[in-house]
Amino acid sequence: MPLSFPYRFAIVMYNENQAELGTVPVERDWEPAFEYAQFYHQRRGELALNGSREASVLPLWDEALGAPYCRGYCIEIAAAGLKPVAFDFPKDHFRIYARIVASLFIEQQKLREGEHFSYKVVAYPAPMERGDGGSLQVTELGAPTPVGESSLESFLARGKAQGESDSSDMPLFVAPEVLDQARLQTQSQKGVETGGILIGSLWRDASRREIFAEVTAQIAAEHTSSTNVKLTFTPQTWAAADAARKLRGRGEVYLGYWHSHPVREWCRSKQCTLEAQKICRFAKDFFSPDDEAVMRAAFPRAWCVGLVANDTAFTDLTFSMFGNREGTMQPRGFFILGETNHGA
Ligand SMILES: [Zn+2]
Repeated sequence: MPLSFPYRFAIVMYNENQAELGTVPVERDWEPAFEYAQFYHQRRGELALNGSREASVLPLWDEALGAPYCRGYCIEIAAAGLKPVAFDFPKDHFRIYARIVASLFIEQQKLREGEHFSYKVVAYPAPMERGDGGSLQVTELGAPTPVGESSLESFLARGKAQGESDSSDMPLFVAPEVLDQARLQTQSQKGVETGGILIGSLWRDASRREIFAEVTAQIAAEHTSSTNVKLTFTPQTWAAADAARKLRGRGEVYLGYWHSHPVREWCRSKQCTLEAQKICRFAKDFFSPDDEAVMRAAFPRAWCVGLVANDTAFTDLTFSMFGNREGTMQPRGFFILGETNHGA
């Protein structure tokens, strides 16, 4: 991991009577938060798109309790010749680790199943490894961010908004053919998860201090092993995608992946009624732990997105888009590109 950790974080667990049960070190994946923090500042032109930099995870002390109690953490990134930048993350980001710690205490019978618990996050200075000499490591963090120049205004003029937009998200544009092809592929695969790799470009609008993404094509994943619940990309999928991308010769990059959720099949096998399907949590904006694992492994950069084609029995096929917002995968809005914003 190319991040440095001057502090170690831990979770202090309390039972429903506020009695302290113990302290457990936090083992967590910091990379999606780092990726988000880095891209956040790159979008604003406060951090170069490539080059060496130093990044560390630091505690944000709780204002009332003070050290070692934390109200969150920040990721500080320092690049040569620029003043360091940071992004703050709330204590909530430890919630899922607190749940893991809680189940540990349940196993040890220090906490009852279903008992209300609370937790605090603490941080202590980490002992320097021998040979560090106290200096920060300087590392190339991630591949350079491949960005061309374009006008956000001209994209917005051609874009039709889909889904709920959050002003903190990178603007995202999708060519209509991508959705048409995903729709056809999903419908032809009846009840089996199918998908493809999204390619396109990243653009910077210097006048707006913003980077945005354009998904130009999808490469159907032809060599995946899929069942009705899971799609996995094989080495042949990647070889085929790489070949297709090179053949197009437009210097496109991987922007994420799409896959279908054959909800009608899941519901049929569980014998759900049509009414139950309408409120089924899998029918819309559902991104499974497996889906997150694919993003994390194959598309870890902060600008990468995951598109889900929801194939349900009660309505036409719909799409849900997901992206890294503050270090976690969240539903997000996007724009479908047309010739103009009228009549598209
Ligand atoms: Zn899925």
